[in-house]
Amino acid sequence: MPSATAERWQRQLDAAGPAALTVGVIGDPVTHSLSPQLHMAAFAALGLAGRSLPFTVPAGKAAEAIDTLRTLGLRGLSVTMPHKEAVVGLVDAVSEAAGRLAAANCLVNDDGYLSAHTTDGDGLIRSLEQELGWAPAGQKAVVVGGGGAARAVIEGLSRAGVTEIAVINRSAQRAEAAAAVGGPVTRVGGLEDLGSADLVINATPVGMAESPGLPTPIELFRPHHLVVDLIYQPATTEWLRGAAGAKATAVNGVPMLLYQAAIQIELWTGMPAPVAAMRAAVADHLTPPGANSG
Ligand code: NAP
Repeated sequence: MPSATAERWQRQLDAAGPAALTVGVIGDPVTHSLSPQLHMAAFAALGLAGRSLPFTVPAGKAAEAIDTLRTLGLRGLSVTMPHKEAVVGLVDAVSEAAGRLAAANCLVNDDGYLSAHTTDGDGLIRSLEQELGWAPAGQKAVVVGGGGAARAVIEGLSRAGVTEIAVINRSAQRAEAAAAVGGPVTRVGGLEDLGSADLVINATPVGMAESPGLPTPIELFRPHHLVVDLIYQPATTEWLRGAAGAKATAVNGVPMLLYQAAIQIELWTGMPAPVAAMRAAVADHLTPPGANSG
């Protein structure tokens, strides 16, 4: 039995044609993005005739892409590097969270009225809540990194009720700027903050093949830590192996990837995202056979 929302979408598709539920991903590079597969799996599981396509849009061309979104009447866009900041100044409305970050990763087109949203921070939080039963209230966090992912996570954690966030980053200036995003509960910290932290997050590329190394020394992990590496390729970094070895709870970047896309699906369709179907659609791409996904 199709839901009322699915029936509404079907009527819109019949009336407006395929653009009514066509979405895209803009970025450069974008060809290896898993987002179209996540979106398509969601549309299929929801019984919607939607589609999602990757579009390579070079730096400086976000305005043209947004004109196309309006002109063609697409339902929305996922936005990745290098356009996350530029799109905020090109739409009709910006969510509070995206405004605080001055960056967005999702655009929604309501009959020509465009709004910009950010789903990375909430995606991480929802993934930990749903998959581990984690609750942010009263928790102390250390975030390693000061780039776009770190800022999104800091913004989300501070809004969710985490009581203390210490930011550790290579360059002091970006650490300060990222900490400012989290308001009064957030400050620039150091490795000494790890001991009392509940949640430790790597939001740097350190641990990927092209950037080997450890974001923090693994000797500092303790069993009470929830350790999250936002990296999802490789599925298990040396840092996460160190966390598991110290009997901490270790989580890779897959759940955040999944849930940030799930929230985008909900923004576009108004329907609860079918997370299991979305996870199955990308599982083969993320976890090499026999690997421990962390
Ligand atoms: P970004 O904006 O380029 O920021 C990278 C940050 O890492 C910067 O703060 C940078 O420090 C730091 N960094 C880079 N190389 C370093 C090194 N060799 N040593 C120490 N610090 C280093 O990147 P981003 O978009 O925030 O992405 C960061 C990571 O998160 C990437 O691995 C990305 O794949 C991952 N991510 C995952 C998801 C997910 O859904 N799981 C979503 C978004 C991002 P400086 O400020 O000193 O340059």
